Amino acid sequence: MPETVVDVLVVGGGVIGLTSAWFLSQKGLKVAVLDKGQPGMGASWAGAGIIPPGNFSKGITPNDKLRGRGAYLHPFLHQELLEKTGQDNGYRVCGGLEFFFDGRGPSRDRIDGWEKEGVNFQINGSIGCSPYINLNLTTNSSAVCFPSMAQVRNPRHLRALNNAANLSGVAIYPQRTISKLVNNGDRIISILTENGDKFHPEKVLFATGAWTGLWDPVLLGLDTKIQPVRGQMIQFDCPESINWPIIEVGKRYMVPRGDGVLLVGSTEELAGFDSNTTPEGLDELLAFTRSMVPCLANRPPEKSWAGLRPWSPRGIPFIGPLPGCSNAFINAGHFRWGLQFSPAAAEISTAQIVGQSLNWINMKSFDPVNPPPFEESILFMS
Ligand SMILES: Cc1cc2nc3c(=O)[nH]c(=O)nc-3n(C[C@H](O)[C@H](O)[C@H](O)COP(=O)(O)OP(=O)(O)OC[C@H]3O[C@@H](n4cnc5c(N)ncnc54)[C@H](O)[C@@H]3O)c2cc1C
Repeated sequence: MPETVVDVLVVGGGVIGLTSAWFLSQKGLKVAVLDKGQPGMGASWAGAGIIPPGNFSKGITPNDKLRGRGAYLHPFLHQELLEKTGQDNGYRVCGGLEFFFDGRGPSRDRIDGWEKEGVNFQINGSIGCSPYINLNLTTNSSAVCFPSMAQVRNPRHLRALNNAANLSGVAIYPQRTISKLVNNGDRIISILTENGDKFHPEKVLFATGAWTGLWDPVLLGLDTKIQPVRGQMIQFDCPESINWPIIEVGKRYMVPRGDGVLLVGSTEELAGFDSNTTPEGLDELLAFTRSMVPCLANRPPEKSWAGLRPWSPRGIPFIGPLPGCSNAFINAGHFRWGLQFSPAAAEISTAQIVGQSLNWINMKSFDPVNPPPFEESILFMS
């Protein structure tokens, strides 16, 4: 039975686990990542990679702070990944337009929120900011333009993270399902997998995304109630979209990759752990696309897929030490925002594991058991 001694064992190789592993290795720690499947092929691979603007020093809710810090860190992460691996993760500031078709535009609360946060936005600066788009707009439509909205290309980002972590000495183990945790008092001393591997970690970070709620009460003694929320996506070959910004309408969006690939998403469904697309889901996305983009009226999609977002009913992710365990941490439940949050969320886990504090966030903001009260304790599912 192969035995591996590490400073930190990260369980789950999505964007949260891989970013954390890479950051931890940069602190000089010996790190391993194990995944029950292929690392980087969960929700993180399936997502659209939208990185909305934010401001971590002025953000009000904990999620605003993660978004703002994520928006700030992504350009640096892009550069570091490029230098380390030679791979471009597709980060670019492409701008975004959020459309409203109800004749009213954004609510006063949202406008106040953007102003307080110092987000750069222009109401009805919209159409002028993207003269290239040929959209079906009614007289009732208005739009808000976010010039600093950005994106990453998920598969490229995941590949670059995986390679950067590897090059920094992180050992990555695919197809490893945990069979047993061995405790000594309040510490996890060994983790066994079904393949017969035995890991002896000094510390453990659980970053198991939508699957966390499957096993957390049993193995972790913490009931996160994290559930999978399926999101379906379609992809078009659309050379017309090369210069488009990201387009958002409610929970639907179009993300132009800048080379003629156009992603359209996404549905929000409680369907257990089924990550297949459905005819109904794809029809909804097709109808949305065709109502917005006349040039795609008769063009079939090139591809479609689905992924499982880790929905945390409490509205904020779980980032912090596990109760009753002195050497284990969790970082999960990022729902629709895991890509944008990932550098900030990994920064928090890294600081907690090495015993440092951060000056931009209260380290207890996402405490697994007792986060401080905040305004945003609403359910995000509607
Ligand atoms: C269609 C869609 C569009 C999205 N668009 C965006 C977007 O535009 N912007 C944005 O910021 N976010 C977006 N998201 C959300 C984002 O993708 C997720 O929040 C993020 O990927 C979660 O990352 P994760 O690492 O927690 O989960 P995952 O990427 O799912 O990784 C979890 C990993 O843990 C592994 N695992 C689970 N259980 C175990 C176990 N017991 N043992 C070992 N390994 C285990 C899994 O195999 C998996 O590889 C989107 C999601 C979807 C589905």
